[in-house]
Amino acid sequence: MTVYLVGAGPGDPGLITARGLELIAAADVIVYDRLIPPEALAGARADAELIYVGKQGGGPSTAQAQIERLLIDRGRRGARVVRLKGGDPFVFGRGGEEAEALRAAGVDYEVVPGVSAGVAAPAYAGVPVTHRELASAVAFVTGHEDPTKPDSMLDFAALAAFPGTLVFYMGVRQLELIARRLIDAGRPEDEPAMVVERGTLSDQRVIAGRLGTIAAQAAAAGVRPPALTVVGPVVSLRNQLEWFERRPLAGVSVAVTRAREQASGLAARLRGLGASVVEAPAIRIVPRPGPAPALERYDLVVLSSPNGVRLLFERLAAAGADARALAGARVAAIGPGTAAALRQHGVIADVVPERFVAEGLVEALAAGPAPRRALIARAAEARDVLPRALRERGAEVDVLELYETVAESLSDAQLEAVSGADYLTFTSSSTVRFFSRAAGRLPAAPRILSIGPVTSQTLRELGREPDVEAARHDIDGLLEALLADVAARRSG
Ligand code: SAH
Repeated sequence: MTVYLVGAGPGDPGLITARGLELIAAADVIVYDRLIPPEALAGARADAELIYVGKQGGGPSTAQAQIERLLIDRGRRGARVVRLKGGDPFVFGRGGEEAEALRAAGVDYEVVPGVSAGVAAPAYAGVPVTHRELASAVAFVTGHEDPTKPDSMLDFAALAAFPGTLVFYMGVRQLELIARRLIDAGRPEDEPAMVVERGTLSDQRVIAGRLGTIAAQAAAAGVRPPALTVVGPVVSLRNQLEWFERRPLAGVSVAVTRAREQASGLAARLRGLGASVVEAPAIRIVPRPGPAPALERYDLVVLSSPNGVRLLFERLAAAGADARALAGARVAAIGPGTAAALRQHGVIADVVPERFVAEGLVEALAAGPAPRRALIARAAEARDVLPRALRERGAEVDVLELYETVAESLSDAQLEAVSGADYLTFTSSSTVRFFSRAAGRLPAAPRILSIGPVTSQTLRELGREPDVEAARHDIDGLLEALLADVAARRSG
């Protein structure tokens, strides 16, 4: 079997490669460092062996020789091993040493490059490391070398004379010495320079100044690792090109309580707008086993969530059936998310209400022909509004309970992170109930964002007035309401 040396990118979970994700999903063993985005591991198999070899709370990291032995041992046992490293595995990641050790031991390996922090952190700070007029070369330099040591491999005369951008991978400890040695060797004191802390992560910080003052500025700002330093005229482009901190939700943290199966879409949208996301799934979706329903018996089929769509089609597929089973029925979706899930299976919903709650669907259905036999496919604990309304119109109604939502336990650390967030989002009554039960009560500090009136009512019952209620009761509506609230509070 093969050991894959995989780069996980600089921190933003979106910056891991497609090949990297594919290998993580297939791996038997994943050996990973500090600075790996936790989201990168989310796609690992539940039975995969995850081995952490980074620093333990400030203590030393696992010795390099021990890591190499581990890779060789698991590789020889025939496991599919992913060695997951921050940034690019072959840029200051000791990936080269690991490849050498594997080769010497006769274990096959492959290398999956990653997005290196030296390119990505400047880019997220609005600084291109090369530029046609300002820098035609870039040097990646390790800053971990002790520049006072006589045997330091860094040649400061050469670095000072280097005709282009210098990127130092390091913390701030060595910065003062490095800056001084560069200046002593002839690099202009007033050359633009910046430090990027936690580049590409939602809490990225940039300290920009000049080579002569950058060390003092970084020390004053209390910069902590991981951080890197960029020296060169390109740094001045940041004034025009900075984009990361200008995104609408930059600096805003948002807690997401939906089930893990559903949270990723919302979390990705939030991150895309610049928010940092606190994942606190309060519920879990547990499918109910059962046969495929005989859909040809119904002239109306109602789907009330994307999960319901997914599970209905899983049941159909298990019975060797597909979307054609719905051919004879009108298909109603409670909202656009559900309609989109249907579309993925090739079904265009006939009815999508204007208001994405059961009452909205009742109204929308009332406008069409009265159904004779209706099937409502949904969660076990849903409200009775829709079946009752359809029965009142004379329909024979069957309810197919496809899944249950059950409580997911939340750790103290998760609950604390939620309390410290700026916003706490609720996308259903069940998440409110389960979250409040897990937390003991609804936290006072974050502003509470509710997807709609039903969820808001549950919040009130549990003693907390929502601060914001979405006008449109879907994820787009939720995001719109959040953006409006953030903008209003910033300008007010
Ligand atoms: N292989 C990695 C680098 C590993 S060395 C890569 O290609 O990116 C670790 C150093 O990289 C850190 O000390 C820091 O200087 C830099 N670094 C890694 N991630 C960073 C980040 N998100 N922001 C700023 N610097 C980072």
